[in-house]
Amino acid sequence: GAVSATSNLKQVKLERESELRIEVSEEPLKLRVVNGTAEIFGSELPPEIWRTFPPRLKFAVFTWYGATIEMDGVTETDYTADETPMVSYINVHAILDARRHLAKASSPDDPVASQGPRVIVVGPTDSGKSTLTKMLLSWAAKQGWKPTFVDLDVGQGSITIPGSIAATPIEMPLDTVEGFPLDMALVYYYGHATPSNNVELYKALVNELAQVLDRQFVGNPESRAAGMVINTMGWIDGVGYELLLQAIDTFNASVVLVLGQEKLFSMLKDVLKSKSNVDVVKLHKSGGVVSRTGKVRQRARSYRFQEYFYGLSKELSPYANTMGFYDLQVFRIGGGPQAPRSALPIGSDPVSNPLRVTPVNIEDRDLLHSVLAVSYAEEPDQIVSSNVSGFVYVTEVDIRGKKITFLAPSPGILPSKILVAGSLSWLESVEAR
Ligand code: ADP
Repeated sequence: GAVSATSNLKQVKLERESELRIEVSEEPLKLRVVNGTAEIFGSELPPEIWRTFPPRLKFAVFTWYGATIEMDGVTETDYTADETPMVSYINVHAILDARRHLAKASSPDDPVASQGPRVIVVGPTDSGKSTLTKMLLSWAAKQGWKPTFVDLDVGQGSITIPGSIAATPIEMPLDTVEGFPLDMALVYYYGHATPSNNVELYKALVNELAQVLDRQFVGNPESRAAGMVINTMGWIDGVGYELLLQAIDTFNASVVLVLGQEKLFSMLKDVLKSKSNVDVVKLHKSGGVVSRTGKVRQRARSYRFQEYFYGLSKELSPYANTMGFYDLQVFRIGGGPQAPRSALPIGSDPVSNPLRVTPVNIEDRDLLHSVLAVSYAEEPDQIVSSNVSGFVYVTEVDIRGKKITFLAPSPGILPSKILVAGSLSWLESVEAR
């Protein structure tokens, strides 16, 4: 948009239990609370202090008791709404809080009683799942709990880049602009934007993540009592539904929050009715949730890549690194596209093993612009069961000189020589304008 020299100050008075819904335009927006108290997705805004919100961000400033908000800048849209599901959401938080206290008061030797709530949030895309997840985590952290956030949504990747599943302890209310902390995250790389590319691999990684968290909880009563909040993807039919059931089961979820879909709620209620220790709760979708088209989602993915390597406002400069082809090994899980039966030797099985790890020949595969995970595996056969330390972005493949150049978010040598490729690539030049 046009850059205007004059400021565009605007004050909005919010009544109790109402919110100001904002879609930031292509220009950043400044905002502050001048009176009263207000929060953004469960995280309280400090009084008087201006905060800058990046272009295209969609959010709501909610107040429990009334507040006056001041904005500086031109928004795409902004309006106030006094009908929100926030009271029902905070009631869920209150119940979870009581369960955390019960768990904390129990003997750590009792593995069932000392386990706090394990909440899983499910629903179609754009039902407000991520938003509710953030609120529950921030409200819990505000009261001193350190719940674990688990993100199973490979489509967006809110902890790290898309294509991964991850978990991280939440020790403070979330920063509305910065999002989730990455420094303590446990990350597994799946490599595709939807589980349908390799359902078995997705399941195996979910399993792996759940087991590692369980092991970590054994020695950590504080984390155990605080429990988990698990965000899922919006794919809820067919195989997507099966994957939700798998996640509920694998993580031993005790509370299933269903957002915005009656049918999914009744299906889950029905299959889980035999489990007396699982509560299935239906919640209303907020009228403020903004729907995103496939294209917008695709763009959001690109921005996540950009953010990983360059920071939120391109304040970071990634480190370029060049290595010889023989100094690293690139692998792919699932064997890639299947050869036609006629091309295979007689008697061989055309069905590929979805968990098979195959080396990628850097020379004949075009890795340019792909995002590769740096695995903690020491041997190729450990790749599926290993988490990753981070990601690199391939900017140049020099076939003649047998050298590969990539960007990494931090300097120095890679912690491992084993890299994992998926189907995700990113055209930096398009986004890093
Ligand atoms: P899901 O995880 O179900 O796909 P999200 O929680 O990511 O949905 O919500 C979709 C978009 O709507 C996000 O950009 C989010 O910030 C925005 N959003 C959610 N709730 C509100 C609200 N009350 N007011 C304004 N924007 C909102």
